[in-house]
Amino acid sequence: MVLDIPFNRLWLRDHCRCAECFHPITRQRLVDTFRVTNHWPQEVKRTDAGIEITWKEGNSDGTQHISAYPWDWLSHADNRSKVSESVEFGLTAAGKEYWTSSISRSPPTVSYEDVMVSETAVLTWLEKVYRHGFCFVSDVPPTPEDTEQLIKRIAFIRETHYGGFWDFTADLAHGDTAYTNLALKAHTDTTYYTDPCGLQIFHLLSHTEGSGGESLLVDGFRAASELKTLYPDDWEILSTTPVPTHSVGDVSYKYVLRKGHPIISSSDGEPSLIRYNNDDRSIMKTSRSDEISSWYRALVRWDSVLRSSESEYWFKLTPGTVIVIDNHRVLHGRAAFTGKRRMCGAYIGRDDYMARLLALQDQRAPPGQSVWDPML
Ligand SMILES: [Zn+2]
Repeated sequence: MVLDIPFNRLWLRDHCRCAECFHPITRQRLVDTFRVTNHWPQEVKRTDAGIEITWKEGNSDGTQHISAYPWDWLSHADNRSKVSESVEFGLTAAGKEYWTSSISRSPPTVSYEDVMVSETAVLTWLEKVYRHGFCFVSDVPPTPEDTEQLIKRIAFIRETHYGGFWDFTADLAHGDTAYTNLALKAHTDTTYYTDPCGLQIFHLLSHTEGSGGESLLVDGFRAASELKTLYPDDWEILSTTPVPTHSVGDVSYKYVLRKGHPIISSSDGEPSLIRYNNDDRSIMKTSRSDEISSWYRALVRWDSVLRSSESEYWFKLTPGTVIVIDNHRVLHGRAAFTGKRRMCGAYIGRDDYMARLLALQDQRAPPGQSVWDPML
């Protein structure tokens, strides 16, 4: 029998969500896809709720299985069009808002007291991080212990060659300029990882016997969009030319991406990941003079967009204020400083932060999440 509805037979059978075919608790596939390739619809019923199919196996006469599919859910049959990042991660509420330096008038902030006791407040916190790419936490006790506990309200810490939770001064403990008192231009961290760290969290615990060290943030997504508007050719070049990167200052670990990745990654024309630290760039591998001169032109324009007064949000961190930065989007930097600074903080993996955000949204939703949830 030919199925008189515009859906593929195996696709339907493979997506049966009955308790036999799909585990209702773990929400994993139980049906053996490879044993139902010869299942054919014997009967198709249309109801107000959806369609119900009675399957039979091969040429046998006996009924094998009944599946029911809601109409809503059947829209997945033609759902390959533009999938935004929030949909990709199953998020419902949060969108992204690009910002300029005027965000200084009211930067996204949550309070330590709230996020330490309330899951709803953690959701608000992470939605702010998602929307703006950064968020302050106010009134944090200026100790490493309290800061670590705060960070773990988001998720477990991502260990790297810099350690798990860091507590450091400008002593060059790791072979990286972050561990000096030099100025750092706007950059993202760990450009030399195949999966750059997702969130970075900083707390300035003390700054004594000196001055300077103002902090800088730049919305990399806004800057990339600006570049695309002003200089579309340069956007094209920076989003397609791979940039090799390295971090080899440590004795024990040498991170090298010989091929590298473009500075701007994009999805459906929107920026999705900024990977940029000009100091960590390795040898550009092109011998063609026209190619490399176009790339440098694009890089110089990217730098000018990043350093415009519209882009640069400068502020002074003080003990008690923690900052959380989306390292896939927002660039950070700092002015040179004198005296002694003690900083602590950590990284959290991108997937772990997004998974926590999704779980918190899920907890807020009405109970009894359906097996027909579009994310499954
Ligand atoms: Zn089934």
